[in-house]
Amino acid sequence: MSGQEFVIVGGGLAAATAAETLRNEGFDGAIRLIGAESHHPYIRPPLSKEYLKVDAGRDSVFVQEDGWYDENRIDLMLGRRADGLDAGAHIVELDNGERVHYDRLLLATGASSRRLSIEGAEASGIHYLRTIEDSQALREQIEHGGKRIVVVGSGWIGLEVTAAARGYGNDVTVIGREKVPLSAALGDELGAVFGELHRQHGVTLKLPAGIRSFTTADGRVTGVVTDSETLLADLVVVGVGAVPHVELAQGASLAVDNGILTDERMRTGAPDVYAAGDVANAFHPVVERHLRNEHWANAINGGTAAGKSMLGHGAVFDDIPYFYTDQYDLGMEYSGYPTLTSDAEVVYRGDLESREFVAFWQLDGRVVAGMNVNVWDVNEDVQALIRSERRVDPDRLRDGSIPIGEV
Ligand code: FAD
Repeated sequence: MSGQEFVIVGGGLAAATAAETLRNEGFDGAIRLIGAESHHPYIRPPLSKEYLKVDAGRDSVFVQEDGWYDENRIDLMLGRRADGLDAGAHIVELDNGERVHYDRLLLATGASSRRLSIEGAEASGIHYLRTIEDSQALREQIEHGGKRIVVVGSGWIGLEVTAAARGYGNDVTVIGREKVPLSAALGDELGAVFGELHRQHGVTLKLPAGIRSFTTADGRVTGVVTDSETLLADLVVVGVGAVPHVELAQGASLAVDNGILTDERMRTGAPDVYAAGDVANAFHPVVERHLRNEHWANAINGGTAAGKSMLGHGAVFDDIPYFYTDQYDLGMEYSGYPTLTSDAEVVYRGDLESREFVAFWQLDGRVVAGMNVNVWDVNEDVQALIRSERRVDPDRLRDGSIPIGEV
């Protein structure tokens, strides 16, 4: 394939991982990586955690060292947006009018923060968090403490920002649509563990609460109007989900439904066009449905599968979804199929109150998801259990004297 040209649109983790995979798998043709941001590809999880809390050097977030792209002959076209795709002609059009030919194309365009479009939403002092610049701007606002901050959204990013903002001594109120934070992801009982964690750290949770508008003065936010009250705010952080960048795919009439639809080999319906990362809604052969995951591991595993698949190396993307969070002194990893947990029984090993436990979701005796909280080096065993699909005695799951790998 030495004369071939592969193009990757998107400059995030999925894109960089796919480029690395192509070289690791022996592809020696041209690789062009077109990314709208001016930075080398970087990872986003630290942006709401350590990057927000300490003055971490920029280098801590980059996927590869600077020299890696040159050494591996990756032609980086950064600060360039792909505006059009002609899948029949195998051409990507850039925002400067340049037309780039490809033999194989990967769309790894990720997602952006979902924005509110209510009265006052354009005022200054309302922050979203997706990019390095967003994280730096937010840190500058919270690092001196003493501010009244309202966080809109009680999901992962909202709660991580809350923990960082409390760490600097700000007064933080969280509003969210759910009665219990994270209950859609974890259920009420486990969501309550996170709610209690934040309350114990002095956070006010106003749940459930709908947001109606922002109050402003001289173009700056001064408060958040909910269904029942107005909360005064010096600063607002909005974390209400993300929207996948599907415009290129839509413009080229690729199948799009909550992301770009792909099969289990990351192939879209268009010849030689693949998708991976946050933007891809990929068919998962184990749960036999499409899954779109907005997680770090999904970008790595999906980017790897896409790279292999672009070379015809027969990769199937069947990894178990995985993600993690860090809030105050709580660290957590979750592996499993959220689509299977709604009817599952939750079995605990350890103690919820001390926040040191493993939760297992069991459906018809099989473990379909597991979450370890402040318990380490068990996630691989949890994943093996899920992958085995064997029926497990719940008493053995509860029994901390039996290693998880042997239940
Ligand atoms: P992205 O990282 O979004 O990268 C896509 C890139 O493509 C962007 O740079 C974008 O500008 C560019 N692009 C878009 N359209 C075009 C175009 N037309 N032309 C050129 N370039 C384009 N996951 C976890 O598992 N655990 C965590 O703790 C966690 N924390 C997070 C904290 C924050 C603040 C955020 C924002 C995300 C977090 N995530 C976490 C999610 C994780 O970061 C994402 O799943 C991951 O970044 C997805 O990678 P990606 O490469 O698919 O997309």
